[in-house]
Amino acid sequence: MHAREHLRNIAIIAHVDHGKTTLVDKLLQQSGTFREHEVVQERAMDSNDLERERGITILAKNTAITYKEFLINIVDTPGHADFGGEVERIMKMVDGVLLVVDAFEGCMPQTKFVLRKALEHQLTPVVVLNKIDRPNARPAEVVDEVLDLFIELGANDEQLDFPVVYASALMGTSSLDEDRQDENMQALYETIVSHIPSPTEAVEEPLQFLVTLMDYNEYLGRIAVGRVNRGIIRQGQPVAVMTREGGLKQARIEKLFGFQGLKRVEIPEAGAGDIIAIAGIREINIGETIADPANPEALPVLKIDEPTLQMT
Ligand code: GDP
Repeated sequence: MHAREHLRNIAIIAHVDHGKTTLVDKLLQQSGTFREHEVVQERAMDSNDLERERGITILAKNTAITYKEFLINIVDTPGHADFGGEVERIMKMVDGVLLVVDAFEGCMPQTKFVLRKALEHQLTPVVVLNKIDRPNARPAEVVDEVLDLFIELGANDEQLDFPVVYASALMGTSSLDEDRQDENMQALYETIVSHIPSPTEAVEEPLQFLVTLMDYNEYLGRIAVGRVNRGIIRQGQPVAVMTREGGLKQARIEKLFGFQGLKRVEIPEAGAGDIIAIAGIREINIGETIADPANPEALPVLKIDEPTLQMT
């Protein structure tokens, strides 16, 4: 298990085409390349994995990158208002957001929609002014627009003090200085780990895990994704599943996964603050709580209002 102070959970939010996918791709490519000699760290990905992942242009719902001794979980967020329920749920899984804004286009409707949710949830924002390489980029003006939007949306004083990272996801460069670009994403990594807080939930308390997102895989069946709210969860552990209607079922954690790059990797245990995936509970649904059978306490019911998607 990663030390809690080396864990960061962030959501990435942006208007469509402002560069979320390209940015996460670059962060993945450079993941694990900034090592501190004295730190023995888990290897995120070998070079074959990296090659394979480089070709992928869709943004995975959950990605995890390593930077020095840090593990940074990145959750993608739908920008569309139809997915308001999912956005709400993701905001409960993270401590901060990366707000990606095109340095030419500026703030757009989806920028506003997702930023409003992030600010309401008291999350710590980092602003990424992307596409700084565009010849018509207007970074100073766009930063002012972003600040105005924060004020309009009722940001608190700490949120208004957001750091700005100027970046070109396309070129793989970033900097804290509007007039300069450095040949890597280090300024962005550093801003994430220094500015966004680590999880603070207690590992010593009885287990609570809220099923926040669902995934499906033909071998594993239903996969419940979320953040451990408190306690520790272990592979093989018997648990209580508390339904949204107040029912209680007994179950067992067959497989537990953490995220590494774009992949799920099996892990023996996870603790409060970790974003994980759980397989082996057949009837599991969004909004249900997985708890310690000796102390089953349900978490507040989540809003689920997105349209039903057609599955083929
Ligand atoms: P998303 O919809 O937010 O995931 O955006 P994408 O990452 O798919 O990027 C949308 C388009 O913008 C693509 O054609 C990218 O190549 C381009 N793009 C992304 N980042 C940059 C950048 O830093 N500079 C420039 N010039 N183009 C970029």
